[in-house]
Amino acid sequence: MAMRKEDYLISLIVPVYNEKETIELFVNTVEQKLASIWQHIEIVFVDDGSKDNSAQIVEGLIAKGKPISLIKLSRNFGKEAAMSAALDLVKGDAVVPMDVDLQDPPELVLEFVRIWKDEGIDTVYGVRVDRSQDTEIKRVTSGGFYYVFNKLSNKVKIPANVGDFRLIDRKVVEAVKTLGETNRFMKGLFAWPGFSSKGVAYERPQRSAGTTKWNYWKLWNFALDGIVSFSSLPLRIWSYIGCGIGLLAIIYMIFIIVDTFMFGVDVPGYSSTMCVVLFLGAVQLISIGVLGEYLGRVSEEVKHRPVFVVSKIKGALSDKLEKGT
Ligand code: UDP
Ligand code: MG
Repeated sequence: MAMRKEDYLISLIVPVYNEKETIELFVNTVEQKLASIWQHIEIVFVDDGSKDNSAQIVEGLIAKGKPISLIKLSRNFGKEAAMSAALDLVKGDAVVPMDVDLQDPPELVLEFVRIWKDEGIDTVYGVRVDRSQDTEIKRVTSGGFYYVFNKLSNKVKIPANVGDFRLIDRKVVEAVKTLGETNRFMKGLFAWPGFSSKGVAYERPQRSAGTTKWNYWKLWNFALDGIVSFSSLPLRIWSYIGCGIGLLAIIYMIFIIVDTFMFGVDVPGYSSTMCVVLFLGAVQLISIGVLGEYLGRVSEEVKHRPVFVVSKIKGALSDKLEKGT
């Protein structure tokens, strides 16, 4: 039973940042692996302000007549912003965000499309079963992140070991487009609309060429972005911690008063005083820090700055936008 129309279009949206080594290999591999549905595929590259000739390489491929478009951003805005740019502009009946380094195996898209078409599922996401390519630290920290995120966020849950690689139906795309926040934690935003979803397991290979654009500091900030934009528990929890500590302080106070009345004044109290002062100081600094995390993001949001700026659009997509279809 086919649930979707027969002349569907799948837009592969591919952010690229300094990827001159990987672009052609990506296009060739996709063309070969997706040969059976090639007439339904368009590839939309978003050049995220690359400093190498990535954009020229893409334009070269467009000139060869491949079903490719290029959205060139005016500078480096980050992968999340690049994906948002593509989501805003593409016309596909379904959209598949993919990395250009072939870490998202193109053949899996066949399975995504099959499930989307035949089972009518709206989001089909890839689940990494084997993280053996990652270091132990990376696995532990990422496992910890999903756990904390899902514990703190009570409405939007994100499945563990799922990246951006997924197929999303047009109606999910439209729902995501209504989310106006500047902070684009895409995994969360993709999960936000809900609708039906299903995971497909896959093994994530090594990067085809070039080097990763991530480091631990960036990942840490990315994780904070995600948690802060989907949960306000870290912000609210301080009133409870404050109440708890206040209660302990009262108990301790009663103890000191009783102690003084019963056994007289006992001057040496340096260590206990220091402990209390240092502990409370730390608690206050942490809570102010948490406030800062939110306040900083609130100030980002109230500025209402656009998430990205497009400098030019090339290929089939630019014609479609002109015609407004
Ligand atoms: N990328 C981007 N803008 C950036 C950093 C990365 O568009 O500022 C793209 C990059 O070109 C690639 C994808 O995001 O297509 C994933 O990047 P990478 O492979 O470095 O991340 P990893 O797979 O190591 O998480
Ligand atoms: Mg990669």
